[in-house]
Amino acid sequence: MKRYGAFITSAEEIAILETIRAYVDREIMPARVQLDEDHAAFERIYAGLVKLGIQRRGFSTAYGGLGIRSAPMVCAITEEISRGDSGVSLHALLVPWAMAAAIGARNKPLMDQFIPMYCSDEPRSACLAITEPAGGCNVEDGAEQGRTIRTTARLEGDEWVINGEKMWPSGAGTADLYCVVCTTDPRLKSEGVALIYVPSGTPGLSFGKPESKMGMRVTDVNAAIHFNDVRVPRHYRAGGPGLDWQLFRNNLSWGRLTSAPLSLGNAQAVLEIVIEYTGTRSYGGKPVRNHSLQAAMIGDMATAIQAARAHYLHVAAMFNDRERFGKLSDDFLLGQASAAKIHACDVTEMVCNRAMELMGSYGYAHDYHVEKYLRDSKIIQLWLGGPQLARLDVAQSYYPYAPR
Ligand SMILES: Cc1cc2nc3c(=O)[nH]c(=O)nc-3n(C[C@H](O)[C@H](O)[C@H](O)COP(=O)(O)OP(=O)(O)OC[C@H]3O[C@@H](n4cnc5c(N)ncnc54)[C@H](O)[C@@H]3O)c2cc1C
Repeated sequence: MKRYGAFITSAEEIAILETIRAYVDREIMPARVQLDEDHAAFERIYAGLVKLGIQRRGFSTAYGGLGIRSAPMVCAITEEISRGDSGVSLHALLVPWAMAAAIGARNKPLMDQFIPMYCSDEPRSACLAITEPAGGCNVEDGAEQGRTIRTTARLEGDEWVINGEKMWPSGAGTADLYCVVCTTDPRLKSEGVALIYVPSGTPGLSFGKPESKMGMRVTDVNAAIHFNDVRVPRHYRAGGPGLDWQLFRNNLSWGRLTSAPLSLGNAQAVLEIVIEYTGTRSYGGKPVRNHSLQAAMIGDMATAIQAARAHYLHVAAMFNDRERFGKLSDDFLLGQASAAKIHACDVTEMVCNRAMELMGSYGYAHDYHVEKYLRDSKIIQLWLGGPQLARLDVAQSYYPYAPR
């Protein structure tokens, strides 16, 4: 596990990562083509990861979890699984991402009710529903402060009544629990933002047809979610006015940070494919990789991957030290996480493109997987506000271009 350098040093953490890498090499690598089209293969592979403890990894040991909270470790696990398939790795992140608001708010009734099902060996899923038909970026844009959210929650007695529509969330229609970003009144801006949990099967909750996409075709299900007078108990709201906005910003910071290893796992896999392929293919009497032009290209790819990995690990280490670096919801850490995402996604795109050049037509062929990694990784760059909003959040962490 030398690749995580000085950020992952404990014998216990290294052993966990070695177990995951062995599982990825044994079970995911040979099934990469299947994972593009075969739902049963995805379910089998994910069930194996759940048995290894992936689903329960972040939860407290009091609930039967493994208590892995260190951000560099969360990121390293994400990159290791992503090296096999970033859709599978994304799926493993959905549960902690959706439960983070309840945990961040220390909402004990919610945690007691929902965390235990994720600490079992039965594969489960969760969904964080942000994006709406009118846009994703405007919900994620801090300058908007939640005033563009159109999914509403109104309190009637001891129940929240939710109405509206979400578009694209991962796990739509397959999740066991939905954390819904809504508003009690858009005029209240951030004070109106409410994160409310809705279990699957709640009357009034329905879903559109899954979208057909370029990558992550079966490993991630995306669809519209319709809320038609959906009623849940009052205590299903994560925190309360003001706090829910902070919790949502925490979700953005975590989402941007973990997007970096999600993306970079693709680049690492592609680098390995290229090194192997160019060692067996020859021109001018020697392997492709032994020509100085191609060796320099491979050197550049490896250098870029190392720099992007060191970048996200450095930001992850800051996530571990909130006393020094501030809250996850602050502009500073959101800006740092956004920069790590931008960097990793740009590197992965470059590495996939260079790999195709180094491998010729074989780089473009389905059986050599480079095209799969390119397809899967592209969306990581586009989600959570895309590269444009991420860049604006980096700028915002230096100066108030859009005063809040
Ligand atoms: C595989 C996949 C998984 C996804 N998972 C989830 C999920 O789990 N939960 C969820 O809620 N959503 C999810 N999404 C949705 C995704 O996060 C959004 O599509 C994304 O944030 C962009 O929103 P949009 O498509 O509505 O684009 P728009 O918001 O319409 O943006 C269009 C263009 O305008 C730019 N733009 C818009 N507003 C701004 C702004 N204020 N500042 C700068 N640029 C701006 C954007 O960068 C982009 O270039 C997923 C999508 C896919 C395909």
